[in-house]
Amino acid sequence: MPKEWACGACTCFNPMGAKKCGICETPAPPMEDIIAEHKEKLNAERKQRGEVVVESKAEVVPLHMKRLSMLQSDLRHMISHEQRLKLLAEIAEKKAREEKEAAEKAALKAEEEAKHAKEQEKKVQTDNLNQGLLALNND
Ligand SMILES: [Zn+2]
Repeated sequence: MPKEWACGACTCFNPMGAKKCGICETPAPPMEDIIAEHKEKLNAERKQRGEVVVESKAEVVPLHMKRLSMLQSDLRHMISHEQRLKLLAEIAEKKAREEKEAAEKAALKAEEEAKHAKEQEKKVQTDNLNQGLLALNND
């Protein structure tokens, strides 16, 4: 049994238990592919050592199946990439919305403060006027 599998997208090695690549999050290939690839590698090593390797036909994965599996992996990778982009866009949108709300709140507060200041000013003017009238009446 192989101890690790090579990511088809970034070629990084991941432990057998990993369901997706630790680097690029590409899902692990099917177990049969990992085992077949491992056997191929072992056979290649044996051949290099000059050992006679008997390859049983059942173990050889047909080329079209390999291509199909690669396409499936590419597709999964593309989808996860698209989902990540969508998520990032949603986060940016939410942040922009929050910033806009905060700006609107600040503007509203400033407006209220200005209104309050104006009312205060009017009150002072009225008080002054009343005091003036009172002074006139007392004369
Ligand atoms: Zn990877």
